[in-house]
Amino acid sequence: MNRQLMWFRTDLRVQDNTALAAAMAAGPTIALFLLTPGQWQAHDDAPSKVDFWLRNLAELQAQLAELNVPLLLREVHDWSAAPEALGTLCEQLAIDAVQLNQEYGVHETRRDAAVTARLSRQGIQVHSHLDQIFFQPGSVLTKSGGYFQVYSQFRKVCYQRLHLSLPGLVPRPNVQAPLAIASDVLPTQVEGFATPSDALRALWPAGEEEARRRLLRFADEQIEDYQRDRDFPAKPGTSQLSAYLAAGVLSPRQCLHAALQANQGEFESGNAGVVTWINELLWREFYKHILVGYPRVSMHRAFRVETDALAWRNAPAELLAWQEGRTGIPLIDAAMRQLLATGWMHNRLRMVVAMFLTKNLLIDWREGERFFMRQLIDGDLAANNGGWQWSSSTGTDSAPYFRIFNPLSQSAKFDPDGRFIRHWLPELASLSNKDIHSPGVHSQSGGSLFGAVDYPAPIVDLGKSRSRALAAFKSLPQLATEMTP
Ligand code: FAD
Repeated sequence: MNRQLMWFRTDLRVQDNTALAAAMAAGPTIALFLLTPGQWQAHDDAPSKVDFWLRNLAELQAQLAELNVPLLLREVHDWSAAPEALGTLCEQLAIDAVQLNQEYGVHETRRDAAVTARLSRQGIQVHSHLDQIFFQPGSVLTKSGGYFQVYSQFRKVCYQRLHLSLPGLVPRPNVQAPLAIASDVLPTQVEGFATPSDALRALWPAGEEEARRRLLRFADEQIEDYQRDRDFPAKPGTSQLSAYLAAGVLSPRQCLHAALQANQGEFESGNAGVVTWINELLWREFYKHILVGYPRVSMHRAFRVETDALAWRNAPAELLAWQEGRTGIPLIDAAMRQLLATGWMHNRLRMVVAMFLTKNLLIDWREGERFFMRQLIDGDLAANNGGWQWSSSTGTDSAPYFRIFNPLSQSAKFDPDGRFIRHWLPELASLSNKDIHSPGVHSQSGGSLFGAVDYPAPIVDLGKSRSRALAAFKSLPQLATEMTP
């Protein structure tokens, strides 16, 4: 009979799903999702993300029902119990093979190895598929056979590979004959993860239909202007697809094909907006490969190991002010409030707030990484770690000496009329387009700002803290030489 178990994880869709298609081509298929609340807590998964998974599971169950595939649910505390849970289920259901799409963190890899070992003792094969990214990690390498450390070089090889053959879309599986197995009832909440506000949920409707609708709208209406608009947080200039990609409600192949269609099949030439957006998909790809090539980054270690010796400051009050959007730097505070309210933050602002935390406040990037993970609906280990390490100069940035953004100049440049700041900090709405960026200029020493406006004084002097950060990085012998321009 060749009965298959499709184990869904971060691939919650039926369209263009490699493992699901392989399962249904091989035999009658039953689907499984494992609830692992203890693991999610340990990984700092945000309540909004867990809620997004649950809402998408409900949509997935409906889609699977159309294919006559029942979706079962099992709950264990964490992944150490996964081998036992799958072993038992496979025995009960007389499963011949398990199909899954690869995930790339260290814990995910160990989990899948343990499950595979356990099932092989039961005579059950596990087939794992490339699905989350375009190229198998380990297949895009330097001439000397190592993993790339620099994005631009990695991208060049990806382009060569894409020219040779484009990753194709996997057809939706055919409907199978009904099985005498009922789907499980799905929970709407998991203990330990509060349900987010209705307003947050409304921003991120669940389901692959919604994801595809967003993708097509972006490709039709915005992608051509992406290069021009992508850095302005007040504009809807980016796709806002990250939550859907992180949960696998949408695949990167679907994104690539939609982009190519908007650019007459070209990916390295043609419209600059499309090319820039495809480059972002390749950043996503790059950080997943980094996770595999340099597994220390998923174990709280710096990519550049010499920076692990940096003298980060222990400054809990400043960390809290940053987390709560009370730093007295409007762009930073507006960005943090966007994160708290929506579970998402614009990419330009992720870089600005991350540099502010790790450079101006000289607080360990791991604090920021963890806090982001606990808030982000699109939280993704590879991208989040990559973004934090890039911003804190502990990562893959190829800049010869360390990069530091001035949040006030970033504010004036990327939110010139203060529209984004006014939206998130209505208390500053009455200030002029000039004053809204730089409260320090107007502060009365140590007191409240702008006369009647209730807004804190900056918690740090930007110039002095910049010098402090430079000094801290320069004190690392290996970086000191590099920092001489
Ligand atoms: P678009 O600009 O439309 O880009 C399309 C897609 O490409 C995104 O959905 C995303 O999947 C991918 N992408 C874009 N930029 C990057 C990038 N720099 N690195 C990796 N992938 C990228 N992205 C996450 O998906 N999850 C995270 O947890 C995450 N944490 C970040 C933390 C920091 C400190 C920084 C600087 C960046 C982080 N990013 C993360 C990357 C980026 O900010 C988001 O992917 C992007 O803001 C999502 O918005 P969008 O879907 O509109 O992106």
